[in-house]
Amino acid sequence: MSSPSVVWFRDDLRTADNPALHAAMDAGPTFALYVLDEESPGIRPLGGAARWWLHYALVALREELGRIGVPLVLRRGPAAAVVPAVAAEAGAGGLFWNRRYGAGERRADAAVKQIARSSGRRAESHQASLLHEPWELTTRQGGPYKVFTPFWKELSSREFRHPLPAPEGQRAPEETPRGDSLEQWGLLPGDPDWSGPLTEAWTPGPHAAHELLEEFADAALTDYSEDRERPGLAGTSRLSPYLRWGHVSPFEVWHAIGRRRREAPEGSAAFASELGWREFAWHQLYHHPDLATVNLRREFDAYPWWSAGDGGSMGDGGEQAALLARWRRGTTGLPLVDAGQRELWATGWMHNRVRMVSASLLVKNLGIDWRLGEQWFWDTLVDADPASNPFNWQWAAGCGADASPFFRIFNPLTQEKVHDPDGTYTRRWIPELGTPEYPEACVDLKKSRAAALEAFRSLPRNG
Ligand code: FAD
Repeated sequence: MSSPSVVWFRDDLRTADNPALHAAMDAGPTFALYVLDEESPGIRPLGGAARWWLHYALVALREELGRIGVPLVLRRGPAAAVVPAVAAEAGAGGLFWNRRYGAGERRADAAVKQIARSSGRRAESHQASLLHEPWELTTRQGGPYKVFTPFWKELSSREFRHPLPAPEGQRAPEETPRGDSLEQWGLLPGDPDWSGPLTEAWTPGPHAAHELLEEFADAALTDYSEDRERPGLAGTSRLSPYLRWGHVSPFEVWHAIGRRRREAPEGSAAFASELGWREFAWHQLYHHPDLATVNLRREFDAYPWWSAGDGGSMGDGGEQAALLARWRRGTTGLPLVDAGQRELWATGWMHNRVRMVSASLLVKNLGIDWRLGEQWFWDTLVDADPASNPFNWQWAAGCGADASPFFRIFNPLTQEKVHDPDGTYTRRWIPELGTPEYPEACVDLKKSRAAALEAFRSLPRNG
């Protein structure tokens, strides 16, 4: 029997439209490998909600792979050491994977490729998680895009490959290296177990992803442009965690939506451009590996945001820490924000409009550093990814690429009237709304807005 191939799974937990899996199986009898890497420098350890998702995603992957005769091996440790070791143990002829775009991830992948090739193994990477390769799409001057509209104009005018089917079954390799048991990894919360509502809200895996996609395309795409702004309605696809974990590929989503272009021209164009924002976020992360920590517009380094550990200058530390705690728990006394934060805590997801309003309140009215909000979302979102989360936080804070102008400070009460006019959303998440138990607003919106604008004006380039 020929030497086995290893397909290394990462953010592409599916068998359909998986070019690395195809290439591996074309090369020989294949086994799959997933490495829980919490040690490589520059690879961000997963947050709590993401760990929960990953557990069930791997259960689903094992089952899918089982149907085509591909065993799944689980290992833990720094990828650059673990992957070559597994390949050596198995006497593998080739290693195959789909590309990742974070700096730490690329470093690890390059190291694996180098070690594999120097040991005489084939090592091959493929494009599967983004519609574009960030180094290939450049402005006329040859640099990265900084503005979304020209980026998307260029990208969306291209043809994207059609998705690949899941491979036909194979006879499994005679032997596969031993792996960890998933339970050993302890990805699920212990005591307290907060995962009940997550389990009710989501079914990780490709099957549920495709059901959601079809349901959304049939029922909600036509009115997407309007309904996507109404958190009380099921107006958006809720595909974000499925895209994050690669249960569905952007090529599959692109073509599924494209097939409805005639029936739903406006909705499909609006939806496609949201996929474009996902691409743009990854484009920024590729070109700015420090996206989660460094303001893209460096003049914001002088903004007096409060961050835990320093006093800041927009209030005394104790008060800000208490405000941060109220924001996290959803007890700010501003219903739209509180509903969103409670939705997030319960389900690991928050509606996009509410994410924007909630982020604006934290950063602009409460004067708290966007990095603290980003970290909270990182820990609580099931769709948290290393590009979209920091990118959108920087967008909301005004310091990012093509960001919302700083002076556009959302008023959460006005936003509630416009986007949740009948209170469906706020009442769903805040049962005590309208009773004496619901707190007063934690901040004076007018005064805090004025203070934020004042601080903004005093930044070096805005005075
Ligand atoms: P739909 O409206 O159905 O959109 C379809 C898909 O397009 C989404 O699934 C998502 O993959 C992509 N998309 C839509 N909007 C954006 C956007 N602004 N940026 C990047 N991709 C987008 N999205 C994440 O996937 N992960 C995150 O960690 C994340 N953090 C965010 C933090 C803040 C402060 C804000 C304001 C937004 C954040 N978003 C993030 C973007 C957006 O809120 C979610 O992608 C969206 O709410 C997901 O719901 P949906 O799948 O129903 O979206």
